Amino acid sequence: MAKTEKIGLLPQILIAFVAAILAGVIFGPDIKIVQPLGDLFLRLIQFIIVPLVASSLIVGVASTGNMKTLGRIGGKTIGYYLGTTLVAVTIGLFAGLLFSPGTGVDISNAGEIPEATETGSITDILLNIIPTNPLASLSSGNILQIIFFSLFLGVGITMVGKKADPVYHFFDGLAEVMYKITWVIMKLIPIGIFGLLAPIIGEYGLSVLLPLIKLISVVAIACIVHALVTYSVAVKTLGKMNPIQFFKGIAPASLVAFSTQSSSGTLPVTIKCTEDNLGVSKKISSFILPLGATINMDGTSLYLSVATLFTAQAFGVELSIGQMLMVVLIATLGSIGTAGVPGAGLVMLVLVLTAVNLPLEAIALIAGVDRFMDMFRTATNITGDAAGAFIIGKSENEADQDFDSRTAAS
Ligand code: ASP
Repeated sequence: MAKTEKIGLLPQILIAFVAAILAGVIFGPDIKIVQPLGDLFLRLIQFIIVPLVASSLIVGVASTGNMKTLGRIGGKTIGYYLGTTLVAVTIGLFAGLLFSPGTGVDISNAGEIPEATETGSITDILLNIIPTNPLASLSSGNILQIIFFSLFLGVGITMVGKKADPVYHFFDGLAEVMYKITWVIMKLIPIGIFGLLAPIIGEYGLSVLLPLIKLISVVAIACIVHALVTYSVAVKTLGKMNPIQFFKGIAPASLVAFSTQSSSGTLPVTIKCTEDNLGVSKKISSFILPLGATINMDGTSLYLSVATLFTAQAFGVELSIGQMLMVVLIATLGSIGTAGVPGAGLVMLVLVLTAVNLPLEAIALIAGVDRFMDMFRTATNITGDAAGAFIIGKSENEADQDFDSRTAAS
């Protein structure tokens, strides 16, 4: 983020954000005319995702140097991901029980139910992570398979050592090039946010939102509580950083996530903010963030638990303790299997509802307003990834101790 810029990135993004909301409210559906600006930005960030995720994960794993360090960082990462996801699911369940967003909702005229076959069973999802042909995964952009392949390649490079140096240097160079391209694309973030957000605000009038406003509010509030409480406590106690400094540093990425509803699409910005504003080393961020953007989704797991309770309440079904535990398990696993793209959480909801034998009709109702909940859950998802990168970086002495807060969000 160049210091020569007159207005910093964060103020630019905030201006775009407010302008988008105003334009949406003033012009209504007509504001759709700016959609190509949003699509332009989305395509630009999408085209860097596959090479960025693959190269940075390979380099991230290989640059840990040896299997012992890799095992230690990997263990901490998985511990952090699982721990925070379980906290998120629990907050979601409490919020759902406390505010009962589904009580009194009329399900009778819900529209069509989306394809339930899209998800498959948990076994299928897990087996499908292993690519039978890594080149096909790269060309089709199957992120979970790309992650699997990249992790293994990184481990292989680490095990081989010196002889694998050329392979390492190739991916290291590729990752640097991708970071540079990211830096160029980031200049367009405010335009992208305006182009993506204004049409959504313009299209969905209050009439679409009102019947489900309680559900949207419960998901939004629970996401905000999880982010403010869980991540503040984590960065403060484990990373010794002032939470305000943390949130300020990651704000540009959170706002991009909010506007794009895609963790994967936001990844380049998350990496940039985590390194530049939180002082996390490339070694740590390039390992933890691409992985987190796909498998660590606190906002999504929280949403899955609230939406499941919503459905049960709308149909007047009382969930047993066993079913609640099932929700915790499936929401956690489901969020791991959710792709970092808009609306993926809704598809996972089919799986959770099926697992606890709830009717799928509610999904058609939720689908109408899912976009708004996706904004909050995606922003939470990437904020959680950044908090993890910072905390683990700090524990490994890979987060700059003398980090100068003046550079934050500049
Ligand atoms: N859109 C979310 C993300 O990219 C996934 C979801 O739909 O919950 O993180």
